[in-house]
Amino acid sequence: MDCIFCKIVNGEFNTEFVYENEYAVVFKDINPKADIHLLVVPRLHVESLNEIEDELLLGKLMMTVKAVTKKLGIKSFRTVINTGKEAGQEVFHLHIHILSGGIN
Ligand code: AMP
Ligand code: ZN
Repeated sequence: MDCIFCKIVNGEFNTEFVYENEYAVVFKDINPKADIHLLVVPRLHVESLNEIEDELLLGKLMMTVKAVTKKLGIKSFRTVINTGKEAGQEVFHLHIHILSGGIN
């Protein structure tokens, strides 16, 4: 499958992970829209929220948001999940944006 986030998860681009666990990796967005802009990406390929069925995975992804922000000392942040083309989803591998600083 030709999925850029699967390739990143598999280490094909040597992307630096600021955090990782059994369920997800976290790396910096290549085109940051805030002072801090991270992406939480599940290791498993799921296209979007429209396709996910695994409640445990969804919970683990949100707990990953909590863990990485805590690790980096980010106390105030916005989370965004774009679902579907019309909503601005460009990469069809589920991901959670974490944005902090300079977003208002
Ligand atoms: P979305 O519009 O929600 O699908 O977000 C996709 C995000 O992935 C965008 O903010 C892109 O800047 C980001 N992105 C695309 N390719 C890469 C990459 N190779 N490394 C890091 N971020 C990427
Ligand atoms: Zn993928």
